[in-house]
Amino acid sequence: MSVYVVGHKSPDTDSVTAAIAYAELMKAKGEDYIPCINGDPNPETKMVLEKFGAATPTKLSDATGKKIALVDHSDLAQAPDNLSAGEVVAIVDHHKIGDVTTNNPIFFCAMPVGCTGTVLKVLYDLDGVAIKPNVAGMMMAAILSDTVNFKSPTCTDADKKAVAELKKISGVTDTDGLFMEMLKAKSAVAGVPPMALLDRDYKDFDMKGKKVGVGQLELATLDQVAPMRDALLGAMKEKKAGGRHSVLLMLTDVVKEGTDLMVLSDEPAIIESAFNGKLQNNSMWIAGMMSRKKQTIPNLQKAFGC
Ligand code: MG
Ligand code: MG
Ligand code: MG
Repeated sequence: MSVYVVGHKSPDTDSVTAAIAYAELMKAKGEDYIPCINGDPNPETKMVLEKFGAATPTKLSDATGKKIALVDHSDLAQAPDNLSAGEVVAIVDHHKIGDVTTNNPIFFCAMPVGCTGTVLKVLYDLDGVAIKPNVAGMMMAAILSDTVNFKSPTCTDADKKAVAELKKISGVTDTDGLFMEMLKAKSAVAGVPPMALLDRDYKDFDMKGKKVGVGQLELATLDQVAPMRDALLGAMKEKKAGGRHSVLLMLTDVVKEGTDLMVLSDEPAIIESAFNGKLQNNSMWIAGMMSRKKQTIPNLQKAFGC
């Protein structure tokens, strides 16, 4: 009976390439494992699959009656539907352990590293199985994506070591170049309506009774949005008219490691004080600002007296 390998819902590059790489490893060991995807591949993942000549895995959203191997998650909410009507036989992951339980002993391997691709590299080495060059390329792409080219606080030495070794196997010489290619695919903005860009990664927050919205676009370069700044400001105006005190849009330059913060506010001085900056034409550059969760929101909360 086949085992279906599948990553989490809203699949990212790691959850798709890990399904492929784990299925390949098990096939090399004589097992019948089939890579799957639970959702549609995002633009970055599509680019990676095309670049390394892999087909998009078969879609799988329901586990009923199936043997399942989970990669890149162990949370029921992220897993295929009706998981308990199937049988989980393996989990390979790099997150906190989730709420999936089993009736029988299974293969379970989770490591506190930046990417499932790194865990899989260790498993290939343990089994002494050679990694196909294109599979190595995909595993490496996943590590670069999950660790934001080694800049994320989740990145470990094991991730760097894995990339160094996968680089040789894959024949990819320029990992920075590969990362940029992925980033450009992921952050493609051309032809997307301004409100859709503002909404792409947007959250509202309550700041002492004032509604403050913060969106973020991760970009390879600010040039990508240069021609559409007025249109973005228009979308922010429309959003703000819906009863918000402030609407912020973080245009984050992942390469320069900073954010051009666009601001529309009833009290711009509060936003300026939050980031110790001065607005010019509704925006200010804040060096080092990358994370909404860890940097932008805490500073705003302090400035709003939360
Ligand atoms: Mg993931
Ligand atoms: Mg991952
Ligand atoms: Mg991720």
